[in-house]
Amino acid sequence: MGITNRERLPLPRQKFRWCTDRLKIEPANRFILDKVSQFGEVIMVLGVRDTESATRANVMQQHTIEGKNLMRHSTLTNAFVFAPIRDFSTDDVWDYLLQSNLSPWGEDNNELLRLYQDSNSECPLVVDKEIKESAGSCGNSRFGCWTCTVVSEDKALSGFINNGVSWLEPLYEFRNFLYHIRNDRNARQKQRMNGQVYLLSHLDGIDLDSAQQVHINDLGNFLDANNIDLANAEDLNLIIVDHDGQLKQLGPGPFTLKAREEILRRLLQTQKKVQQLHDPSIELISIEELKIIRQYWEEDLDWDNRVPNIYEEETGLKINWEENDRPTFAEDQMTDLERLCLEENVNLSVFKRLLSIEKNYSGYKIRRGLHKELEKALKQDFLHL
Ligand code: SF4
Repeated sequence: MGITNRERLPLPRQKFRWCTDRLKIEPANRFILDKVSQFGEVIMVLGVRDTESATRANVMQQHTIEGKNLMRHSTLTNAFVFAPIRDFSTDDVWDYLLQSNLSPWGEDNNELLRLYQDSNSECPLVVDKEIKESAGSCGNSRFGCWTCTVVSEDKALSGFINNGVSWLEPLYEFRNFLYHIRNDRNARQKQRMNGQVYLLSHLDGIDLDSAQQVHINDLGNFLDANNIDLANAEDLNLIIVDHDGQLKQLGPGPFTLKAREEILRRLLQTQKKVQQLHDPSIELISIEELKIIRQYWEEDLDWDNRVPNIYEEETGLKINWEENDRPTFAEDQMTDLERLCLEENVNLSVFKRLLSIEKNYSGYKIRRGLHKELEKALKQDFLHL
């Protein structure tokens, strides 16, 4: 995947569909630009067709070069597109493919036809930003990513399952679980990733009969008095009265660690099921990805070494985890720390974050940036409510 270690993004949705750019368009554009800088210009041969959609036809028309068989690339200079099957209808494509049963790379085209028939779908590769803007999710009527949370239903997966490909059921269930958990108020932190607290001006999801009401000026005291950590709190069912007397609620942030644990467990369970039902070599998450998740969770103050434990519990396997050099405490030390923080009225998660920052800088002669990071941790919104 084209994701660097430092990018942490939410599940994609229609209004924030970052994935098509980052996972499809940008890597394809990087490749094209690399070839342009190597050879001066490139011509891509694409199977795009006018009859795919009115938008597709329109975009192709706009970029056609008068009197030439080439189109200009919609965004990249010195990149051109040759579309040899531009005038083909969908039937023409299948007629052509089935004239010869074998593809140039030796696969059976009848298998391909069966695949499309079973899924009730069609899926061209989205490599064009203009098409992306108007086409909606590629999960709508095409093959998309199996975890796509942009669409409310993955019609391709359900099409396969309805046509008897039952080993896909665990994947279908996991995708639906993902789609629903992101709207589960209990699963979301009540602050942003950087600790910022924000208010929503609607009360959707709040149970008005049982909700507690707190004035914004008293929120800090309320959280302290009830020992509420916004990073881990489940649904607070809390109405906030703002300075203008308007009723609001705390806006949701990223998943709580508990919800992340649940998602990881379900993913590993899904992997196990498809390995048993279909192919033992199927891997839904790699060891490298698990190591990155572990690193993120540590940054988010998971000092319980959860990822290795979850992996072992769900798969029965041990893997060679790199040494955990974060400041960790034994269970009884952790209990003492929690008790002391409570007695001294010190916020435990801030205390852990400060220790973590200090540890990150230990061993360096020049600790540039340390004070800035400590300051940032101490300025987190929720500490100053
Ligand atoms: S299929 Fe869904 S998750 Fe995948 S790139 Fe398209 S919109 Fe994003």
